[in-house]
Amino acid sequence: RIRVRGLEKSFGDRHVLRGIDFDSPAGTSTVVLGASGSGKSTLLRSLNALEVPERGSVAIGEVEIDFAGLPAGRAGRKKTGELRAQSGMVFQAHNLFPHRTVVENVVEGPVVAQRRPREEAVADARALLEQVGLGDRGDTYPFELSGGQQQRVGIARALALKPKVVLFDEPTSALDPELVGEVLAVITDLASQGWTTVIVTHEIRFARQVADQVLFLDDGVIVERGTSDEVIGDPQQDRTRRFLSRIL
Ligand code: ATP
Ligand code: MG
Repeated sequence: RIRVRGLEKSFGDRHVLRGIDFDSPAGTSTVVLGASGSGKSTLLRSLNALEVPERGSVAIGEVEIDFAGLPAGRAGRKKTGELRAQSGMVFQAHNLFPHRTVVENVVEGPVVAQRRPREEAVADARALLEQVGLGDRGDTYPFELSGGQQQRVGIARALALKPKVVLFDEPTSALDPELVGEVLAVITDLASQGWTTVIVTHEIRFARQVADQVLFLDDGVIVERGTSDEVIGDPQQDRTRRFLSRIL
């Protein structure tokens, strides 16, 4: 479960998040839509404290941060580290380690950051690779994979850390069109297995299918929210309608 209240983030004098509130119950998928520059990535990065907002709170599972009251220095970093450990992040493109096999890429986090026993992490990695359709690719190198396959390794790598929630920031926007479907299918699969996800995407058909909740962000404010049928199927705000008509 995710609970966000009153998030405010500025870069210099640019007020990028202007009071964001939402809840994502456990096991649900929240899709964030919005034009370029509306603050989608900043919001996602704030959920795992890659960005530190000036105000507001984020709770994921048992970990809650009130950013305004975040202590300076080491105590603050400990707190942001705890929040970060609650989520796995999947970006547009993954910087997989080129000189390491697929399995080695997936076990890096669990073994180095979480100090889990290597053998156990490798067994988990192979199961995750199976789940993303790459069960036979564990011993190959990233350059031997297509962009879509690399992106699926990135998803396995995020899941390997056993996060409470998985955050996706335009996971298919760097892919050739023919590779988009296989990555979206994996995400759809995760959502139906009960993972809690927050997904920034411009793939509207996918969004409509996967989302339990859609948030439409405009200039740092959620101006429309609801089920996918409500927000995508029957948008109430002009800004949402205009956005959808541009990308459909
Ligand atoms: P896109 O669809 O293009 O990815 P977005 O909705 O993800 O856009 P953000 O990346 O969150 O938008 O950026 C929101 C605003 O914040 C933009 O105006 C951007 O220029 C600004 N911004 C983001 N990160 C920084 C930063 N590190 N320093 C300064 N400004 C930033
Ligand atoms: Mg972005």
